[in-house]
Amino acid sequence: MTDQRSVEAFARAQTVIPGGVNSPVRAFRAVGGTPRFIARAAVAYLYDVDGNELVDLVCSWGPMLLGHAHPEVLAAVSAAAARGTSYGAPTIAEVDLAAEIVDRTPVEQVRLVNSGTEATMSVLRLARGITGRNKIVKFAGCYHGHVDALLASAGSGVATLAHLPGSRVAGGALPGTPGVTAATTADTIVVPYNDRDAVSEAFATYGDEIAAVITEAAPGNMGVIAPGVADGVAFNAFLAEIAHRHGALFISDEVMTGFRVSRSGQYGLDGIAGDLMTFGKVMGGGFPAAAFGGSAELMSHLAPVGGVYQAGTLSGNPVACAAGLATLRLATADVYARIDSISATLRAEVGAALSAAGVPHVISNAGNMFSVFFVEPDVRVVRNYGEASLQSTSAYAAFFHSMLDSGIYLPPSAYEAWFLSSTHDDGVMDKIVSALPAASAAAARHRAGPHQ
Ligand code: PMP
Repeated sequence: MTDQRSVEAFARAQTVIPGGVNSPVRAFRAVGGTPRFIARAAVAYLYDVDGNELVDLVCSWGPMLLGHAHPEVLAAVSAAAARGTSYGAPTIAEVDLAAEIVDRTPVEQVRLVNSGTEATMSVLRLARGITGRNKIVKFAGCYHGHVDALLASAGSGVATLAHLPGSRVAGGALPGTPGVTAATTADTIVVPYNDRDAVSEAFATYGDEIAAVITEAAPGNMGVIAPGVADGVAFNAFLAEIAHRHGALFISDEVMTGFRVSRSGQYGLDGIAGDLMTFGKVMGGGFPAAAFGGSAELMSHLAPVGGVYQAGTLSGNPVACAAGLATLRLATADVYARIDSISATLRAEVGAALSAAGVPHVISNAGNMFSVFFVEPDVRVVRNYGEASLQSTSAYAAFFHSMLDSGIYLPPSAYEAWFLSSTHDDGVMDKIVSALPAASAAAARHRAGPHQ
């Protein structure tokens, strides 16, 4: 498979775009090699600029639930665009999209924005405005977009535990990236995912200062990790309860899971509502659209009704709303049943191929979202970022490149979810499955080799 044109495009891209990409993981740095430049996409396939046909298991990182270039979505988009692309004034399309989201989820009202980052940024402001408190609890390895205050993780050796010696709770976490000031993350408390004792400790220490705990409804950004169940209580239920007991809000970030793992996202699987919730990806149908919502009472704190300011020139853009609405209306029970079923099949096939090649692994899923961790043989489950980071990312890179050589496009990082669409039909699934033995052998060779 040639990638000459992608190589040339990448070289040119790097002269005018930092790293040649507009979002870092696209650069393939986690797996090495040259990112494929995509010329077009249809159903379950990407076509790169060299003319290679690639089965897409990234699906634009989640949005393309119905596959690429769905004719009815395209028709809705074309019709909307023909009526003009932005007005900066209210439209019926926004109301229809908001109503569809309200119908599928526990929220009573939503505000539409342009990206998941904007949704989580705005929801933190709203939570702080409502409670009059400053501190936010987040989980190491949960990604909520590049919101300054949330770009903090306790994962590195520099995690600030100064005033809680020996604790797993990082209060006043250090920024995870240059450019974010310590003042910005001073009110961010980072705890390990699925660690109830650490959450309890955070609330015991800072309880009356905590505005909200924010979590991915089911994490997909440290690889996929399932919210644990302890004594019959799901992790999200535990979080909601402890937040409420301390007068804080529970924020469920469904940007990735929303309208993907079920018609109602992770809420549809575990029934646990966030007081405030964020949505994105699928609800934009491949266009920039996202939302945050909650009860009418909580949302009434938002301008122009309440005092918490939030706005956007392109918010509720009519073309994006048309794409999102068409997508959600086509995302029927059959679509979710199909994706659930092929996800289960693929998980089983990947597991079988890796086992046959003697490659230790954990396949972790939250509904139909899943990822594969190349772990040590004794590891049975991955519960948090610390455990996820023990995986062999280079074994994943070997697996990834073999799959790519066979025409299967996996996420170019071991810390990302695999995504399927309703257009991954039996023929597509057969192509993926037939590529697995060689990729498993590549991972096995890698583990046995000097780079292990
Ligand atoms: N929250 C979650 C759970 C996400 O997965 C993402 C993006 N992967 C975001 C927020 C940020 O969304 P966006 O990239 O649209 O800003």
